Amino acid sequence: MKVLGHLTAMPELPEALKGLRKLAYNLWWSWNPEAAELFQEINPQLWKRFRGNPVKLLLEVDPPRLEVLTATSYPARVQAVVAALDSYLKDRERKEGPLVAYFSAEYGFHSSLPIYSGGLGVLAGDHIKAASDLGLNLVGVGIFYHEGYFHQRLSPEGVQVEVYETLHPEELPLLPVQDQEGHPVRVGLEFPGRTVWLGAYRVQVGAVPVYLLTANLPENTPEDRAITARLYAPGLETRIQQEMVLGIGGVRLLRALGLNPQVFHMNEGHSAFLGLERIRELVAEGHPFPVALELAKAGALFTTHTPVPAGHDTFPLDLVGRYLHGFWERMGTDWEGFVALGLEEKPWGKVFSMSNLALRTSAQAGGVSRLHGEVSREMFHHLWPGLLREEVPIGHITNGVHTWTFLHPRLRRHYAEVFGPDWLRRPEDPATWKVEGLGEEFWRIHRDLRADLVREVRLRLYEQRRRNGESPSRLRQAERVLDPEALTVGFARRFATYKRAVLLFKDPERLLKLLQGPYPVQFVFAGKAHPKDEPGKAYLQELVAKIKEYGLEDRMVVLEDYDMYLARVLVHGSDVWLNTPRRPMEASGTSGMKAALNGVLNLSVLDGWWAEAYNGKNGFAIGDDRVYENEEAQDMADAQALYDVLEGEVLPLFYAKGPEGYSSGWLSMVHESLRTVGPRFSAARMVGEYLRLYRQGQVWAESARGHERVLQAFHRAFPAFYTLGLRAEAPGDLTLNGEPVQVRAYVEGEIPEALRPFLEVQLVVRRSGGGLELIPMTQGEGGRYAVSYRPSRPGSYAYGVRLALKHPITHRVEWVRWA
Ligand SMILES: *Cc1c(COP(=O)(O)O)cnc(C)c1O
Repeated sequence: MKVLGHLTAMPELPEALKGLRKLAYNLWWSWNPEAAELFQEINPQLWKRFRGNPVKLLLEVDPPRLEVLTATSYPARVQAVVAALDSYLKDRERKEGPLVAYFSAEYGFHSSLPIYSGGLGVLAGDHIKAASDLGLNLVGVGIFYHEGYFHQRLSPEGVQVEVYETLHPEELPLLPVQDQEGHPVRVGLEFPGRTVWLGAYRVQVGAVPVYLLTANLPENTPEDRAITARLYAPGLETRIQQEMVLGIGGVRLLRALGLNPQVFHMNEGHSAFLGLERIRELVAEGHPFPVALELAKAGALFTTHTPVPAGHDTFPLDLVGRYLHGFWERMGTDWEGFVALGLEEKPWGKVFSMSNLALRTSAQAGGVSRLHGEVSREMFHHLWPGLLREEVPIGHITNGVHTWTFLHPRLRRHYAEVFGPDWLRRPEDPATWKVEGLGEEFWRIHRDLRADLVREVRLRLYEQRRRNGESPSRLRQAERVLDPEALTVGFARRFATYKRAVLLFKDPERLLKLLQGPYPVQFVFAGKAHPKDEPGKAYLQELVAKIKEYGLEDRMVVLEDYDMYLARVLVHGSDVWLNTPRRPMEASGTSGMKAALNGVLNLSVLDGWWAEAYNGKNGFAIGDDRVYENEEAQDMADAQALYDVLEGEVLPLFYAKGPEGYSSGWLSMVHESLRTVGPRFSAARMVGEYLRLYRQGQVWAESARGHERVLQAFHRAFPAFYTLGLRAEAPGDLTLNGEPVQVRAYVEGEIPEALRPFLEVQLVVRRSGGGLELIPMTQGEGGRYAVSYRPSRPGSYAYGVRLALKHPITHRVEWVRWA
């Protein structure tokens, strides 16, 4: 047949069940177990087959089944849950903070909407959910990838095969977005020699709408329709196209919807082109380029997510020149001024870096853990030459996870009984986690969840082997793997090499000795490697090969197709969550937080979030914060540390079971883990901290709007700053016995009037071992400055003198000239 179009007939729900549709189209259902249970109950087999997708379930379910349900107590429960959703939404009609547009290339909301690849997407999903819970005035912007991210199949040898499945928007909780006149929204994007049209779907996440762009429209050529087909499609050209869709198309979409966010938050650099589009808009309003840049920057916020250099997108300059041809003129600048915004000098030449662009077009920036903040300041120090490392304007907000998404419903109910109702309202408040009350009942639930995990592993492994055509004996063996009573270690995340999934096999002899010891222990692995990450794929194969080679298939299992569903199964049912990144490559990591919520103990390298969460009593550390001369030395030391901790601490503590059937020492550690991780590493705490930055962005954005003349004068005068000279008269090295040191300085050159209010001559003192003091020097006659300084405590100090220029809006030192 020649297909002219597709029709989707939505089910006519019986009157009493009409509320189901409302629930199906708000992802709120996914973190409210009563709602999820309503869908599951309709048809548990379909529910599982559709990966928990209620829209598809309602399309496929037999109408008679719904009729049967109407004759039970079911409709009353539907109404109660709908009432709960309505009241949730009503409580959030009054919004907190400025209107924020949150941009992310991927979102992990639920396994039924596979437009995420891993931690970054799940974090974005959690950010949106927590923003909804906290009633923030926020909208999300992303892309609807109609082939999503791949499903992973593993051959018996552990070879990864990527399978793409076409997603149908009408089978997902997506609604086509209309413009203010009620027509399907369309925005145009100039590509070389043509215009690409974009439309959008809206997905409702509690009280927060998320707009997902698509180029898959009849107006576009087949090639252009494919631009938004796959998340992280390989190839630089597709990459720049997708990032233009997200950044430039995203801003245009918001405008078409009549939205004027005061704050723009870039979750990773993929969306950084949005800064260019905003500058273009401001120039069109009549501002000169430097002022437009300042206005765009004031309300912009950038979160960077990786210390791995290859994780930062860069494009060849000619590609950028080809795709953004003419854009610089519309931004009121030239090619040089344009390229300077993203320029990065690599050993092999100049490239356009999306992270640099994001940093240069955002007044606020940060990493995702304390350690990652430090590493990022070091990594991007070259963008602020002259500033000291600790002054580089990149802070951090440590990641957190959405409590209600990752906590198992049975534990949620149990915690609610034990901790009380305040906890349900304020999971980010440490005072609400009354963990001492968790005992035998908690442990009973935990054992059940471990048994569920073992059951799920067996089912999946059976399926995996059956599909691979393995022998009947291998299938029977799959039904017997793992022991529901043995200590279970979970390891699941992307198979990037720095995460070192095979570290456990570094010293096979020690591993075997451990496994043959008195305490039963078993491991479950899962994770996808990026399609282009050959070393990551080789790790997967190596892991599978090693398990076979040492005959460990009964107690070490590698599962395929890791996603949010499997993530939940694993963090619910493991006893120990293993993480072995090569420090300091893990920016934050979040799966360990999910595990901790469910009473699972972390066993991890002191990297990312764990470096700041670990307190000696709330889980286990692998190694310390030493810096190694090379990777091999680091791997060997970490592997030995891992065996030591497993053998000497983890296993003996877990198996020190008392008459209650569990180890009280273990349970104390679980208490400590819940108490310290539960509130602090929640997305609610994280988004609460971002709200402060959003408010700051709003203040700066308004201030910039009110000081356009000042900004313009400042930028006119700015080049003169680099013509100024500074001479210091200082005593050099000196030993002080209580008396102060006298330092003088002299500014050479004409200081332009416009710069005067922002200039400061500073004595900078850095104490060895930490601590920076900036002391303004007092101006005397004719460009002379002086200061007298006495250290407040003994120690050794380095000092210097500089001319510092503060930003007219943020009042931060951004440019300096050292004497
Ligand atoms: C939480 C999560 C991740 C991130 O795990 P890390 O340990 O932080 O790497 C990746 N994928 C899925 C499906 C997740 O749920």
